[in-house]
Amino acid sequence: MSDTNPHEAANSDFIRDFIKEDLASGRFKEVRTRFPPEPNGWLHIGHTKAFHIDFSIAADFGGTCNLRFDDTNPEKEDLSYVEAIKRDIKWLGYDWKDREFFASDYYEKLYDFAVKIIHKGQAYVDDLNDEEIREYRGTNVPDKNNITLTPPGRNSPYRERSVEENLRLFARMRAGEFADGEKTLRAKIDMAHPNLIMRDPVMYRIRREPHYRTGTTWVIYPMYDFQHPLSDAMEGVTHSLCSLEYEIHRPLYDWFIREAEVFPSRQIEFSRLNITHTVLSKRWLLRLVKEGYVLGWDDPRMPTLAGLRRRGYTPEAIRDFLGRIGVAKTDSYVDVQLLEFCLREDLNKRSRRVMAVLNPLRLVIENWPEGKVEELEAVNNPEDPVAGKRLIPFGRELWIERDDFQEVPQPKYFRLFPGNMVRLRYGYIVTCTGFSKDPETGMVTELRCTYDPATKGGDAPDNRKVKGTIHWVSAAHAVQLEARLFDHLFPAERPMDVAPGIDWLATMNKDSLKRVSGWGEPILATTEPGDRFQFERLGYFARDPDSVDGVPAFNRSVSLRDTWAKIEKKGS
Ligand code: ATP
Ligand code: MG
Repeated sequence: MSDTNPHEAANSDFIRDFIKEDLASGRFKEVRTRFPPEPNGWLHIGHTKAFHIDFSIAADFGGTCNLRFDDTNPEKEDLSYVEAIKRDIKWLGYDWKDREFFASDYYEKLYDFAVKIIHKGQAYVDDLNDEEIREYRGTNVPDKNNITLTPPGRNSPYRERSVEENLRLFARMRAGEFADGEKTLRAKIDMAHPNLIMRDPVMYRIRREPHYRTGTTWVIYPMYDFQHPLSDAMEGVTHSLCSLEYEIHRPLYDWFIREAEVFPSRQIEFSRLNITHTVLSKRWLLRLVKEGYVLGWDDPRMPTLAGLRRRGYTPEAIRDFLGRIGVAKTDSYVDVQLLEFCLREDLNKRSRRVMAVLNPLRLVIENWPEGKVEELEAVNNPEDPVAGKRLIPFGRELWIERDDFQEVPQPKYFRLFPGNMVRLRYGYIVTCTGFSKDPETGMVTELRCTYDPATKGGDAPDNRKVKGTIHWVSAAHAVQLEARLFDHLFPAERPMDVAPGIDWLATMNKDSLKRVSGWGEPILATTEPGDRFQFERLGYFARDPDSVDGVPAFNRSVSLRDTWAKIEKKGS
């Protein structure tokens, strides 16, 4: 999707400019916005752009922001979604206080508005079914020069019913006298209107489906385009901010406000947030959940707030991201690496460092006495002196990463190989003296080293050149852990733009989750779900609520490698 709003390309201040004008002209005396989620799924990061704008603009003008559940589709909505949405907005640090509303509370009033519009001769009950309505409406057609033409639609044969008949039929629709789909209430606008949305849009449909709040009280439900402007008006919403796909609905928004003669709420659109390598649409995310492509709405690979939270994202990192995308020189697709950059920035400041080994190889220090354990001092967070220090046990047998050893070193390989020296982080300098191999598989099974007692803490007193430093954990003290390493859900940068005829689900990355078993410092045994760490050299990790057979699981929130800084440098 490209950015068609010229103002938004530069920044989002254009909304504030509109609002200032409205206040200056006296159109509105105060500012009230609303965030209107439909409770049919969990919030994703795209929604955070919307509610960040809604809440922050209201706050900037000393106004208020309503949380309104736009719940007028009984088929898809549920209380569990209401609760998940509220939890996630709060988690991100936004507060609607007592301003919580439900469109379903307005059903009676909306019905009265519909009656009012019928009375004015501006709505009618139609007997055409969905398919006929679509057919009568007509479609945009490209001509031979590929210019879009909109030939006029046709009037429904029921369009000229009298006001009295329409009132009677609408009352009977409400009373349940007709089958689902048998009749609709339509606005009487213009079947030749160049904007198809204005061609007598449906206001009410008959649907016998219990609603999660109103139960079976209603068998007719208002359509979004009718319900939304009037709900805004009833709440005194001055500025109804929404994403750009509603731009073509704005004439209809204004039409209903005018015909119902209500508070003149004003709709303003901003560009939708898209992020590379993922999909930001509840409809698509719901399919990933329902069809088992992910473990749930809160799967750490999901772009939902719950998924990001479980992955280890902090509210601060997401808010930082939201502050930056306003001025990012991108179209409405934002590089996921910017989001990761914001997380890394925040976690770097707040995360305790620990050592963990995810692909373990045993290292034996031959000249270290059997059974001897020494406690070595390690810094918890070099970015935060208050975080202090800890002691970590060191002994004769350690776990190190398998790729910190090469039997035959590549050029410029400074880690372990026979005869070479490395520094063990916070420990000693060791020299590799040998290794053993499994004769059948050829796998290296164990390394042997000697340590130099004069190098405690990793110092090389006699200016010995030691180029490599590696991390380790004491084999006798290490706790077992599971690390979950993630890759993008979609290899394509813009998976939502798949070519016609290609199923986007087929383009998914089949290897987006890797689970590995490793060893960590003893302190990791006493962590709680949500605790965040930097595993030195490996990335930032957050303890998952899940653990398998008592082995704690850690989600890699983000790796340490900062690709964003490089991208920015290249771009500037
Ligand atoms: P989805 O396509 O994910 O189902 P939606 O628009 O149907 O989104 P709603 O619950 O109706 O979901 O959205 C609530 C508000 O959030 C709307 O005002 C909508 O404009 C806004 N919104 C939804 N997705 C995005 C996005 N990716 N970027 C910016 N705003 C969004
Ligand atoms: Mg919507």
